[in-house]
Parts: sequence; structure tokens; C-alpha cells
Amino acid sequence: MFDKILIANRGEIALRVLRACKELGIATVAVHSTADADAMHVRLADESVCIGPPPSKDSYLNVPALLAACEITGADAVHPGYGFLSENARFAEILSDHNLHFIGPKAEHIRLMGDKIEAKKTAKRLGIPVVPGSDGGVGPDDDAMAIAKEIGFPVLVKAAAGGGGRGMKVAHTAEDLALAISTAGNEAKAAFGDASVYLEKYLQKPRHIEIQVLGDGRGGAIHLGERDCSLQRRHQKVWEESPSPVISPEARARIGGICAKAMQDMQYLGVGTIEFLYEDGEFYFIEMNTRIQVEHPVTEMITGIDLVLEQIRIAAGGDLPVTQDEITLNGHAIECRVNAENPVTFRPSPGKISRYHPPGGLGIRIDSAVYQGYTIPPYYDSLVGKLIVHGKTRGECLMRLRRALDEMVVDGIETTLPLFRALVREPSIIDGDYHIHWLEQYLASGDPAG
Ligand code: ADP
Repeated sequence: MFDKILIANRGEIALRVLRACKELGIATVAVHSTADADAMHVRLADESVCIGPPPSKDSYLNVPALLAACEITGADAVHPGYGFLSENARFAEILSDHNLHFIGPKAEHIRLMGDKIEAKKTAKRLGIPVVPGSDGGVGPDDDAMAIAKEIGFPVLVKAAAGGGGRGMKVAHTAEDLALAISTAGNEAKAAFGDASVYLEKYLQKPRHIEIQVLGDGRGGAIHLGERDCSLQRRHQKVWEESPSPVISPEARARIGGICAKAMQDMQYLGVGTIEFLYEDGEFYFIEMNTRIQVEHPVTEMITGIDLVLEQIRIAAGGDLPVTQDEITLNGHAIECRVNAENPVTFRPSPGKISRYHPPGGLGIRIDSAVYQGYTIPPYYDSLVGKLIVHGKTRGECLMRLRRALDEMVVDGIETTLPLFRALVREPSIIDGDYHIHWLEQYLASGDPAG
């Protein structure tokens, strides 16, 4: 096992990793920018190192500063959290060159899945169903129109290097295609330095269903069921739940089995998420994330498995915690991502939290790094915290979530709490009847949170 882990992240995920380290008896090193000197992860870690000024590129993405922090503190492993360097294969290799462990998958798998075109080819080869589309990238010499016509409009132009919903454009008709390709390519070039794009059938009313996997790197792998992340705004997840209201035990076993088998064949190491769109009973692979996800707690709540702790154990050479047959899914869990944003315009609202009262009681979990008097800095994401609720049934979970949202107080800044208070009372949400465009249509239809 590792002796000392450096957590190369901030906010709630840094705290989440720190908690797992404490439970494993591993010493922790927090790193922070000058803007985060007062952050909770810094206060609770055994040691902390300031790694640079506020902009992420000079601090949380600053590899030489992170290596120096490992060196001076004697850390032997690095946990990257999510975002920042978590899916950077080069970073994993550099750590290994310096005799440091990267707590994550093998660099080759990070690289493979980071290129969405290669990821899709790999998925297909491993027997995972994919969205119909171009077989690879669509270059200037290809007849994009012929490919698009074969797929059938509307088509989605997606960037090979895409992420966070960027580099994606819908072409509803043949006339839109050229513009969609150049816009998506330019956006991807600016954001990721790579303009390659590919085409995919644009699904009209799918759900976003993702499968959590765990592999030991030696050919052992299991799945931990699905998460339904269909409630999205601008391709960003807002509300996640497990199990999905629409996935039957048979469908879960089928797609979960395919994913676990694929991870066994790859000899995948650590936690991963295989993302699908789901429409008319069919699953279509869109991408794989080779890291811990923001929404991992809903899976933890229904399986009782601490994913971050297992991720660390497995990175140190440990075995899978359970066999597939030993996994049981208990009850239902929902997560709300509470952001420091205006609930109607979604304009970021950083600033000082004057009053903070998190809800409590049976089945309530808060993953957050804020406290009363804390100032949310303007430089990073706007997550205030994740409210995760568990119940014996989906109905009980919704009832408890309603109660928890009414109890929660975050004053001094604007938050998206009013949106969630409205959502949890919406008939379509209560019935589990929603798809990936539902939330945007709902938001466009009026002033639900006002
Ligand atoms: P990113 O890496 O930018 O998050 P993804 O490929 O995971 O991109 O897609 C993000 C979201 O975009 C999905 O959850 C879904 O809402 C939407 N999306 C992606 N592919 C399609 C598609 N073929 N048809 C319709 N919507 C899609």
C-alpha cells in the first residue's frame, strides 16, 4: 500500500479522496493555488503545498510544481481526482518516470479512450454497441455529405478530442452540414488543439445511461450497474440517479455483462465509466471516462462499495473487493449538483457564503468542501456541493430529497437549489419520464425556478 498520497485536485473531490486515504491509514498531501489557501482540503490534509497562482494552468495543471511537491513531501502516489490532469496519459507516464504511482488506469488506456474516434473503434472491436456513424474521422478529402446521407439526418458532428460538451454541433439538414463541421472543428482546435471530427447519428430522445466498471489490471473486471444522467443542461449533468427508472434487471445484466467482459479483455485497471445513449431498448456507446466521475456517489449508495477507496487499493496492486455475484443493488439514490449559479440564467455567482446549513438525517449525504464564511473563488468550476439521497425505493428517495432540499440553506451567493426544489415536484421527474433534452425544453418553457 502507498504511504503518502498527493491529491492533485481541489474542492469536494480533493476532500473525497482525502477521506478515503484517512480510512486507509494513508498520509495525505494537499496542493493548492494561492486562491485556495483557505480551502477545506488544505485544512484537513496532513501537509499542504502551494503550487502556484490562481489560474489552473499555473497551479493544478502545473506538472513541474506537482512533481516538486511530491519530491519535498515524499509522496509516493498521486490521485488526480476528476478534471485537471485525471485523463492526461502523459502526466501518468511522467509520474511513472519519476517512480511515482498514478492512481488511475494504464497510460495506454487513458490515451486510447481520450481519442473518441479510437475509443469508438475499440468499443466496437470489444463487442460494445456504438452509435451509428462514420467509421473514423471525417477529413477534408472524405465525402462528408455521402457519409451523412448514409447515416441519415440529423447528424451530430463531434470532435475526436471533445469533452465537457465542447466541439459538438448538430446538422439537422444537408444544408447545415458544412457549417457544423467547420464550427465543431474550429471549436475543438481552439479548446483541445485538435480539429479532427467524426459524424454520428443524432438521437432525438435518448437517455444517458452509463455503466460503472472496476478492473484489477490483470483481466479481472466487474460492473456496478448503471447511472441515469439524462437530466443535462448544455451537455452537462445536473441530476443523476441509480438505478435508472427505465432499465430492467435483464437489460442491466446484459449491458453490464458486455462492459465487464470488455474490461476483462482490455485488462483495464481501476475505475471507469462506459457512457451510452439509450433509446427504444437499445444501448449506443458514446465514450469511456477513465477516471472517477462526479456522480460516483449514487453507485456507492446502492452498492455499499467505496469506489475511491477501492480505486486506491487496486492501484496499489489489490484485488477486486467483490465478485460480480456478490454485488447487490439496494434501494435508490439521487444526486443533485448544487452550483453557485443563478437558477434561471445560470450565470456563475461566486462569493462569500454567509450562512450554510446542510441537511441531515437518514439517507442524506453531502459531498462538499464549503463551509460558512467560505468564499467560492471565481477561477474554477461553480460546484457548491453534491446532495446525495438514498431511499428504499425511488418514491422514498424523492420524498427524502424534497425534504432535504427544503432544509438546505446556502446564503450570500445564488445557487441552483430553487431549480432542484422545482424539479423534484415535476410530474415527469416523479414518473421518471425524461430524456437528455427534457431539462432544456423545461427551462425554455418558462421560469420554473423563479
Ligand atoms: P463530452 O465528452 O463532451 O461530454 P459525450 O460524447 O459524452 O461528450 O456527449 C455528451 C452529451 O452529448 C451526451 O450525454 C448527450 O447528451 C449528448 N450526445 C452525445 N452524442 C449524441 C448523439 N449521437 N445524439 C444525441 N445526443 C448526443
